[in-house]
Amino acid sequence: MAKDYYQLLGVAKGADESELKRAYRKKALEFHPDKNKGNKEAEEKFKEINEAYQTLSDKQKRAYYDQFGTAPGANGGGGPGAGGFGGFGGGNGGFNVDFNGAGGFGDLGDIFETFFGGGQRGGAQQRRRNGPYRGNDIETILKLRFDEAVFGTEKELVINKLEKCERCAGSGAEPDSKIVTCATCKGTGELRGIRQTIFGQVATQRPCDTCEGQGKVPERVCTKCQGTGRHKRTDTIKVKIPPGVDTGSTLKVSGKGEAGPLGGESGDLYVHLTVEKSKDYIRDGYDVYTEKEISVPQAVLGAEIPITTLYGELKLKIPAGTPAGKVFRLKEYGVQKLQRSDRGDHMVTIVIKIPTKLSRKEKELYEQLGQSE
Ligand SMILES: [Zn+2]
Ligand SMILES: [Zn+2]
Repeated sequence: MAKDYYQLLGVAKGADESELKRAYRKKALEFHPDKNKGNKEAEEKFKEINEAYQTLSDKQKRAYYDQFGTAPGANGGGGPGAGGFGGFGGGNGGFNVDFNGAGGFGDLGDIFETFFGGGQRGGAQQRRRNGPYRGNDIETILKLRFDEAVFGTEKELVINKLEKCERCAGSGAEPDSKIVTCATCKGTGELRGIRQTIFGQVATQRPCDTCEGQGKVPERVCTKCQGTGRHKRTDTIKVKIPPGVDTGSTLKVSGKGEAGPLGGESGDLYVHLTVEKSKDYIRDGYDVYTEKEISVPQAVLGAEIPITTLYGELKLKIPAGTPAGKVFRLKEYGVQKLQRSDRGDHMVTIVIKIPTKLSRKEKELYEQLGQSE
């Protein structure tokens, strides 16, 4: 069962950003581990509240949650990005059905910073010391038509995101500038300190913000990106949709998330798919269902009837004495299975058309039939 994030935070479904923030702050304080030492239930609740807030405070994640009733990655542990997602296939167009682990506990955004003074932001395991950080993953929702999902297609996504600066190739330095030791952190890439928080004094250690933890800075920063190594740009990304996807499928496009600062590795792009319903077919997994109307004589005497399938028309032989509601299975005429070569089936349910307007001749024939019984 999916958790009700709105209920967890105690807000109405239409709650706006500030209501969410207020509700989250209250709940987080109530269940904070520092105030509930060793209380497993409170700890669990604290995690849930964070998960709920993370999802609802992010426009895209919230839209996804409102639509599907689960967060993209509601069960995830760990931080966002590296290792969080269990995709198979890897590489471009790798496919990932169980979306798992988007932004777990690691990135609590500005609320977490308010509590802890910015110490832990951004998933510690991906922040190598003295190395460039990885860029953020991006999630987006893509709508497909029924046939596009069944047969596969290619789509172009237009995404506005942080991209590597081309002037400095992501280094943040003017092309001819020297690289020198960072004066703020003396080259260690870290700043230490004591912070006052609502829970008392906390010793902190955080990446140096002058050099972004690199320990080195350019003597003159790039004029295009002001030394960050990246800037916002609109990128058009081609994604190949394999045949067989359905609502709830997620595609992972490696390396198409945001560029990391100062030349860091790019995050990944996750495309959540929703598929429109067809007016001709009902789809259930890889099987499709249709109904076929036949006449009384066809049902009684048997017939060859034309059926429209996903792969064109075929003739279905129905035996004499076919009852209404009888289902015929057209094997392998369903949807092609993801990353496999076999297909589901197409089920045809027989509907018998009972005539309501009869010609005189037909009426006579039915009367004769009636008498012979
Ligand atoms: Zn630059
Ligand atoms: Zn520094």
